[in-house]
Amino acid sequence: MGAKQIIRDACVISVDPEIGTQRRADILIEDDRIAAIGTDLGVDDAAPIDAGGMIAMPGLVCCHRHLWMTLLRGFISDGTWSSYLVETFWGRRPLYRPEDSHIAAYAGALEAIDAGVTTVLDFHDCSVREGLADASLDALDKSGLRTVFAFGLEGPPDFDGAAGAEAMSPTLPWHREEAFRLRNGRLASDDARVTMGITARNLEFLPFACAAHDLGLARELGVRTLTTHAGSGALSKGATLVDNLRDHGLLGPDILFSHGQSFTDGELDTLAETGVKIVVSVESELGQGADPVTWRALQHGVTVSLGADSVGSLAGDMFRHMQMTLKVGRGSRARLMDQQGIAPTDVALLTRDMLEIATMGGARSLSLDDRIGSLTPGKQADIILLSRERVGMMSGAEPEQIAVLQANGRDVDTVLIAGRVLKRHGVLLDADIKAVARDLDNSRAYLDDAHGRLDTGVLWDAYNTKVAAAS
Ligand SMILES: [Zn+2]
Repeated sequence: MGAKQIIRDACVISVDPEIGTQRRADILIEDDRIAAIGTDLGVDDAAPIDAGGMIAMPGLVCCHRHLWMTLLRGFISDGTWSSYLVETFWGRRPLYRPEDSHIAAYAGALEAIDAGVTTVLDFHDCSVREGLADASLDALDKSGLRTVFAFGLEGPPDFDGAAGAEAMSPTLPWHREEAFRLRNGRLASDDARVTMGITARNLEFLPFACAAHDLGLARELGVRTLTTHAGSGALSKGATLVDNLRDHGLLGPDILFSHGQSFTDGELDTLAETGVKIVVSVESELGQGADPVTWRALQHGVTVSLGADSVGSLAGDMFRHMQMTLKVGRGSRARLMDQQGIAPTDVALLTRDMLEIATMGGARSLSLDDRIGSLTPGKQADIILLSRERVGMMSGAEPEQIAVLQANGRDVDTVLIAGRVLKRHGVLLDADIKAVARDLDNSRAYLDDAHGRLDTGVLWDAYNTKVAAAS
């Protein structure tokens, strides 16, 4: 028997249907796991964590986050999709060095932990040179964040290459080699805190052979999750990816589509039948002028989770995503009913449903529901404590309503991941924030300087000829 800790006197929202919500209970932790939840556990040899007056709940699970964009914070706050593509994805991304990848992942991981996000799928579509993945992984190891590191298969665009989308999203021989090196080395275990996934290219815009290639590689590697942007707005309209994958027997529960707002009802049925999941990024979809797919996807039986997406310009705080997704999801349903001439008599999507989506929904989407997503004995001790000492948190509402509708990342008092305390009394432990700020500044200055010497006219020409012409 290993190290014991006990969280005492918390209001426990377990998100486990058998355990439910308990107004006052203790949580016993042994090593990296939850050992027991209840009152009078009869334990006197465990290190105590006083949670009197606090809410204890599972850590939030973010299934779509580009940690490398942490370095670009604010850069495209007022930009369009085309400026994102040209200035960020084609402009700055190819300039990343290992130290830039490292500090972006580290700062992004700390931001997540600070706000009570204990698991992140890192959508690492920044595989522009060898060494960046290892630099990110070193940062993730150091941070303590539970991560599915979804290694990207897309190199820098080849502006001089052949016409066609494939030249702009090339996968390179070293991607395959590096993917296997990681899978056979530091990402070999699916039971570790940091595990491996794959980020495929934007498959809807590429020949079907690219989809077959990226999925084939993910399945050769045997990773639990392959993720890609899909069904993501006007540019995806008319895409045949889902039907093509279905016809080739390639859809399965290891696929996690990001966005999905332009999927048809028929496509949603297909995804539900084949176990494909969707991660909604409400701010991102609204920014594209689209209604997020949340309500429709749930109605079709698709597993839904939440993701922050680009933390360069969108919020990393998943409490905000829960609030927005809940309200916007209710609005979607009301509009659909209105089209049928029906006035809603209830909201249908409840606060506890949203809490479930942000925790167990995320765990299911990453095929990690046997290990995380609820406070259940035997599962990993990924637990957050919410302080009730802020005036806005002192209501008489149900604890689930407070957690979803009133809380934000700053109310997170304590964070444990795999039993390790990473934040306590509102302060990140073992993190030198001044050094993080200095390293971010240095990398940002390098990127701006190197980007300033680029001929961005070439990039805009490429956009106008290769993307706009194709749409
Ligand atoms: Zn994204």
